[in-house]
Amino acid sequence: DHGHLLGPADIRELAAALGVRPTKQLGQNFVIDANTVRRIVRTAGVRPEDVVVEIGPGLGSLTLALLEAADRLVAVEIDPVLAQALPTTVQARLPGRFDRFSLVHRDAMQVDELPGPAPTALVANLPYNVAVPVLLHMLATFPTIQRTLVMVQSEVADRLAARPGSKVYGVPSVKAAWYAEVKRAGAIGRNVFWPAPNVDSGLVSLVRRAQPPKTSARREEVFAVVDAAFAQRRKTLRAALAGWAGSAAAAEAALTAAGVSPQARGEALTVEEFAAIAEHKPGIEL
Ligand code: SAM
Repeated sequence: DHGHLLGPADIRELAAALGVRPTKQLGQNFVIDANTVRRIVRTAGVRPEDVVVEIGPGLGSLTLALLEAADRLVAVEIDPVLAQALPTTVQARLPGRFDRFSLVHRDAMQVDELPGPAPTALVANLPYNVAVPVLLHMLATFPTIQRTLVMVQSEVADRLAARPGSKVYGVPSVKAAWYAEVKRAGAIGRNVFWPAPNVDSGLVSLVRRAQPPKTSARREEVFAVVDAAFAQRRKTLRAALAGWAGSAAAAEAALTAAGVSPQARGEALTVEEFAAIAEHKPGIEL
């Protein structure tokens, strides 16, 4: 029994009534399994005082479970048909909590403020093609978000949670580590979705760090070094950062000043080391 949560038949009915044809372009794979939804809410550790933001509520599978567990829920949906239908679904299924729910019809990448009190948690089954940019945008834009649980494709989950030295450590790993303590938090099969995607999914938990890495460089400056270092991942940092520094010699000087070997590769560096390199960016000579 799934109570007021949505099961496979509910999803089918809702989609048919709305004429929804899930699109790949918007990463529309809807969860049809109430147990999966409950597991996500439990793993997210949603508390009764939480103001949760959900990106991509879709037909409302996760939305309903979140709304039951949290104090408030703000859902951000880009699809006009889904955005219009969701309040009706919430009203029909959880009328007693309708006044704790708000819907924002927008592209999550464009969201820079939300209605109501500041969000404390982010929980989402993210659209797969924009999962990492949306996640990073939300963490950057809403510093009050303390805990995050996202479902992404399994490979992306591995990348987000990777540590220096791992084969899959890269730009998403370092940028996520700037904001948070990142961990894989479980696997989800493809059969809990309609339509079933052709990849498995994974849960990733991010708990915001008490302090971002200590550095005099701005976040954008640190991220520029990260992007440059991994744009040519097999090169040494001396070579990969030549464009960023102005020359290979200038890159070597900055790396040495930061205490990083010019022969190292980006995949070996912690976010703190990237921050130290950013601090030593050569100035423009006049
Ligand atoms: N949360 C629902 C569930 O678990 O069944 C749907 C998840 S589905 C993987 C992703 C959802 O994100 C879809 O509803 C899609 O329309 C929405 N979406 C896609 N791109 C978006 C964007 N840039 N901003 C906000 N929502 C987006």
